[in-house]
Amino acid sequence: MPKYVYEFSEGSKEEKDLLGGKGANLAEMTRLGLPVPPGFTVTTEACRRYLADGVVPPELRVQVTRALRALEDRVGRQLGDPQDPLLVSVRSGAKFSMPGMMETVLNIGLNDVSVRGLAGVSGDERFAWDSYRRLIAMFGKTVLGIDDALFVEAMDSMKRSRGVTQDVDLGANDLEELVEVYKKVVHQETGRSFPQQPREQLDLAMNAVFDSWNTERARLYRRRERIPDDLGTAVNVCTMVFGNLGPDSGTGVCFTRDPATGRQGVYGDYLPNAQGEDVVAGIRNTLTLADLAERDPKSARQLYAVMRRLETHYRDLCDIEFTIERGKLWMLQTRVGKRTAAAAFRIAAQLVDEQLITMDEALQRVTGDQLARLMFPQFDRSAARTRLATGLAASPGAAVGEAVFDSATAVARHAAGDSVILVRRETNPDDLEGMIAAAGVLTSRGGKTSHAAVVARGMGRTCVCGAEAIDVDAAARTARVGDIVVNEGDVIAIDGSTGEVFLGDVPVMTSPVATYLEEGLDAALTGADEETAELVQAVHRVLTHADSTRRLGVRANADTGEDAARARRLGAEGIGLCRTEHMFLGDRRALVERLILADSAAARASALEALMPQQRGDFVELLEAMDGLPVTIRLLDPPLHEFLPDRTELSVRVAVARERGEDTAADETLLAAVERLHESNPMLGLRGVRLGLVVPGLFAMQVRAIAEAAAERIKAGGDPQVEIMVPLVGSVMELHLIRDETDGVLAEVAERENVTLDIPVGTMIELPRAALTAGRIAEAADFFSFGTNDLTQTAWGFSRDDVEAAFFAAYLDKGVFTVSPFETLDAIGVGRLVRIAVEEGRRARPGLKMGVCGEHGGDPESVHFFHEAELDYVSCSPFRIPVARLEAGRAAGAYDDTAAGLAGAR
Ligand code: ADP
Ligand code: MG
Ligand code: MG
Repeated sequence: MPKYVYEFSEGSKEEKDLLGGKGANLAEMTRLGLPVPPGFTVTTEACRRYLADGVVPPELRVQVTRALRALEDRVGRQLGDPQDPLLVSVRSGAKFSMPGMMETVLNIGLNDVSVRGLAGVSGDERFAWDSYRRLIAMFGKTVLGIDDALFVEAMDSMKRSRGVTQDVDLGANDLEELVEVYKKVVHQETGRSFPQQPREQLDLAMNAVFDSWNTERARLYRRRERIPDDLGTAVNVCTMVFGNLGPDSGTGVCFTRDPATGRQGVYGDYLPNAQGEDVVAGIRNTLTLADLAERDPKSARQLYAVMRRLETHYRDLCDIEFTIERGKLWMLQTRVGKRTAAAAFRIAAQLVDEQLITMDEALQRVTGDQLARLMFPQFDRSAARTRLATGLAASPGAAVGEAVFDSATAVARHAAGDSVILVRRETNPDDLEGMIAAAGVLTSRGGKTSHAAVVARGMGRTCVCGAEAIDVDAAARTARVGDIVVNEGDVIAIDGSTGEVFLGDVPVMTSPVATYLEEGLDAALTGADEETAELVQAVHRVLTHADSTRRLGVRANADTGEDAARARRLGAEGIGLCRTEHMFLGDRRALVERLILADSAAARASALEALMPQQRGDFVELLEAMDGLPVTIRLLDPPLHEFLPDRTELSVRVAVARERGEDTAADETLLAAVERLHESNPMLGLRGVRLGLVVPGLFAMQVRAIAEAAAERIKAGGDPQVEIMVPLVGSVMELHLIRDETDGVLAEVAERENVTLDIPVGTMIELPRAALTAGRIAEAADFFSFGTNDLTQTAWGFSRDDVEAAFFAAYLDKGVFTVSPFETLDAIGVGRLVRIAVEEGRRARPGLKMGVCGEHGGDPESVHFFHEAELDYVSCSPFRIPVARLEAGRAAGAYDDTAAGLAGAR
């Protein structure tokens, strides 16, 4: 028979899966000997069973009875005893905290009789009736589903009739009367009386906690936060302690450090003569802990001691709930506290300095996402700002612009040179053009996987979504928050890193962390205030440690000398992907056109001849910027028609010219070429290695340009480490053919220039067939580089440009995946192809160097996958390099309590 019920003294903080976060930490505090009111936890497993079967497992009832009796024996009181009743709270608590999703019921065990017993033993009638009315309201709302407003209204009208404003000013008789009113509300709303049987109260409350796992609100929250739906919640049954027993009682919350800055000290709120949620509900102004120390020095001292003890034990910022009952301190909850990105780095460094954690652990206390957040341009915090609302931080960045309410206006205003913020209730595929044109996107509905969020993240656009306080009226072209109205053209500012929305312009500045990463420590520290300096130092220390820990190399995807230099400043150890097609654009497009239109070998040769020096120049620049570090140059990849004019535009031009009797010969030749090269699925058409095989001389020209650039650098005293990469290979034959040509050209240039050229030729693995035949392909490849963008497209059969805007939001919503496979590598599908290729490639050619150059190379979760798959490096856009460095370090150092000998230290 499964063990569904654990006494607090039986669990520990390691058991969050089974006991939920709250239960595991209550158990941990109990084991530490802290003053936790005794109780027990019903496991998440019991919840899952109950939700699957629709009935409470009978053995759960039995186990609860036994735990309850043991509790009663221990505290010497019984649930519902008419003289001296034991009261308990029934508290939800899942593995991950879901604030505000599921409620707690306090004071279970009170009824019409025991309320008088409670008044007797406490010597305080008011307290007894106050507790009873709280039970009926909380039970009514949470368990019976009655609209809370009815209870609030009854309370307000009681206060009005007594001429008081605060609930503490109501006397015992008032509250007794209120209990009668509340009971009537229950009867009216449910057709039955408030349950008088304490055990029935307990059972119903426990079931309500289980059921609350599946409310619409909770599901939505989980989808937003990417918490799996099948975890279930635990239920904690905890002996009541009372903060509402008069002025020497009270309840509060506190942090062991400031969660915004990390500064050490005591931060908290305290409310005398209050119970549970009164503190956060803001019904009265709270006191500070310093005030508490004045009112009740003994309890305050005790609390400080507990805070220190908890921080020493958890070795991290703790977030704590406590209650003081007539001068006695009780601990009701603790957990490792949430914090801002800046605080995460500061706290990690502080704890190292205090010698509470090691540098290895510090590395695990921060994330790449947090680092990325700190790198984005920021709004100037010292500037005056009017906050309109706060939504979800869906895609980071700081954007300022005129509010527009539809896609077409966004496009038009953007074309006119304005910066705009597209404001929508929610977006759909029709809004795509507007989203591209806008500096930022703001929606009032939808979570982090809504269309707006997914698409904005995909294109790196700043986005705040689900800002529910904003009422967007697209027809009226307004957004309202209370009586503030934002009209079309009014300037607003959105912060995609915090979710804040501001009215009016807010100045944007480079973040100090970005300055540090690009220009070094000194530049960032010059003129920085103390807090900023501490942050920058913390980032520097943690990142330096990541660099010394990681096994994965980190390279950049960069196409120009300028990008390469920037990437190098950001810590890149080479270029993993240089896309040569970017060198065919601009005024060189005409040369490519000549190549495509060439109707003879001579014409083609002369077109290639014209392109060559240009390419060589680019490569020289790139190799110079990355001197001494590897530079992987990919031969031409995209279909040729991308370099030609648009088919429709060109046909119209030809038709019009013909109509006017103008000379159309040149355009007609061009049009014929466009027609010839037109493809229904260009992504799967004539591109990559296929181009190299059918356009004579094209790849040879590129290889020559590379070889000559390397020779030039060698002669200039440089150390070029160039590598040639062939795209879209599906069969080893393709690679053999290209290699034959390439090797010839390399040898020829080496001889002519009289230099030794050691230029490896490798291939991308970006087609399933390449991955599945990697053992053969390895025979002809000096290295592999996984092109995980195309590999994701071809493994899923997704055309990225089409699918992301069209239906990804729906897929995320329906749970087909929890994150876009273009954002985080689909480890079990696409990742399997990667693993197969790694294994077969290395079996055929031991030590074969492998990297990844898809965008996944800069995604934290994917970096961990690539580390585990034993790749040699990741390559990502320059801006993501610090993130990749940090995450590669975290992956290598994946920290384990047991290894450090700390597991037994609880
Ligand atoms: P949440 O997860 O929303 O914080 P909790 O289960 O922590 O919910 O409880 C809500 C409030 O009631 C908190 O302020 C908590 O400290 C208080 N509370 C919970 N159990 C007890 C108890 N046994 N005695 C006194 N107060 C309690
Ligand atoms: Mg709590
Ligand atoms: Mg590709």
